[in-house]
Amino acid sequence: MKTNPNTINLMSTDRKRIVVKVGSNVLTHSDGTPNVTNMSALVDQIAEIHSAGHQVVVVSSGAVACGRGAIEPSRQLDPVESRQLFSAIGQIRLMNIYSNLFGLHNIVIGQVLTQKENFSSRTSYLNQRGCMLTMLENGVVPVVNENDTASLTELMFTDNDELSGLIATMIDATMLVILSNVDGIYTGDPADSSSQLIARVSADDNLSDYVSETKSGFGRGGMGTKCNTARKVASEGVMVVIAKGDRRNVLTDLINCPDSVPHTLFVPSSEPLSKVKRWIAHSGSFAKGSICVNDQAAEMLRSEKALSLLPVGVVSTDGSWEAGDIVAVVDSKGQRIAVGKAAVDSAQTVQTMGCHGQRPIIHYDYLYLE
Ligand code: GLU
Repeated sequence: MKTNPNTINLMSTDRKRIVVKVGSNVLTHSDGTPNVTNMSALVDQIAEIHSAGHQVVVVSSGAVACGRGAIEPSRQLDPVESRQLFSAIGQIRLMNIYSNLFGLHNIVIGQVLTQKENFSSRTSYLNQRGCMLTMLENGVVPVVNENDTASLTELMFTDNDELSGLIATMIDATMLVILSNVDGIYTGDPADSSSQLIARVSADDNLSDYVSETKSGFGRGGMGTKCNTARKVASEGVMVVIAKGDRRNVLTDLINCPDSVPHTLFVPSSEPLSKVKRWIAHSGSFAKGSICVNDQAAEMLRSEKALSLLPVGVVSTDGSWEAGDIVAVVDSKGQRIAVGKAAVDSAQTVQTMGCHGQRPIIHYDYLYLE
């Protein structure tokens, strides 16, 4: 895959669209009280970027952590109950602080609480997109979080890193900045002085030796999911940076003089995905069924040639879908190769599978290769 060799270049006067994801560990203290010092420093920087004419969307975690510090439940709660109770309390506390801090800069903010289901159909995806763009057009800074009071456990974002990636690609952001409690991806444990910060990650770099799935402190995400999100979003054409959220002037320095601030940059692909493929890329969990292809078809799809999925390569199907639904494409070992928007329903797929000269089951324009 070709990659863009440029590093961060936001110094030009062009209007940029930046998504800033802030983790619970940056926003709250270990006892669950809001870290107003960190929040205030970030808001000051976002205000500076905003007043320079750029558009900023904040994806803010911290509701559950903040709610936990605010109340002692009257009985032992199960994980769903505690997530619902704490997020309901913590979200409003966080938003009050954000609103006051941004208000000092005369910036109006808006709360966007969302759920994974809101991205499941193209119509609801475009509806979410429209909401964000209208806010930006009116100079409002959207502050986004998952609606943890209503999300079903089995249909939640893995974490807010995943949500921030979805938002960044949905609104065609120039850049996604993931602010964590470390400076970026290290070659080992960040606490170990022999570990080194990885400055740049390109599409071909293999990070599996370095990144573990262990997570630290509050919040659902760990470095593993941050890395997966960052790679996927960069492969869709958006620049991604992981940096340390409580580092002084981290955001403004990343924009004005990136060399002065430690971070990991995920180099964006120079061949950005189309808008519809970006939606499909993040819709794998809504697949209504799967289509199993033979080894030859699997190899051809993986070859990155612009190919549609034809009935001749299909050996079996699982599930039932209508034309227009999202389906997964798997190889003979059940490994997912692609996700796509089906052009025909499951009954017709079964009827034509194995046959030559039939219309594609998924057209290339609607097929996202994983
Ligand atoms: N939505 C969760 C919260 O606000 C955070 C999820 C995450 O840690 O990524 O507490």
